[in-house]
Amino acid sequence: MADRPLRLGDVLDDYCPRCRLLLNHDVASLAEGQVARTTCRTCYDTHDYRHGQKPQRRGGRKKEEPRSLVDQVLAGMPMPPVTAAQPAESPAPEEADLRERAAPTVHRRGNLWAELERIRKK
Ligand SMILES: [Zn+2]
Repeated sequence: MADRPLRLGDVLDDYCPRCRLLLNHDVASLAEGQVARTTCRTCYDTHDYRHGQKPQRRGGRKKEEPRSLVDQVLAGMPMPPVTAAQPAESPAPEEADLRERAAPTVHRRGNLWAELERIRKK
């Protein structure tokens, strides 16, 4: 395979996003001597050449340890108000304004976090 440059119709391994597997592919298009697109020999889907690599977004995330539902919910939430741990820098005027506006909800949000901690410890 390395003895001559790839040509249209050559078979090579690539990751098929449709089959989600590393499968035989035909070279469907070339750009500047490099494989640009491939056609899956299993489902005939033509897609950009992926150099046999799984897309990192999905693969990387799936490899992480499965998180509990509570942790998944917590990951999508704003951090709990930790005023003591924050540096004593004076906040920007706009920020202070936002905090004042958000003040009525802080109490409720604090209760929510306490509730979540309680659920987590179960
Ligand atoms: Zn396929």
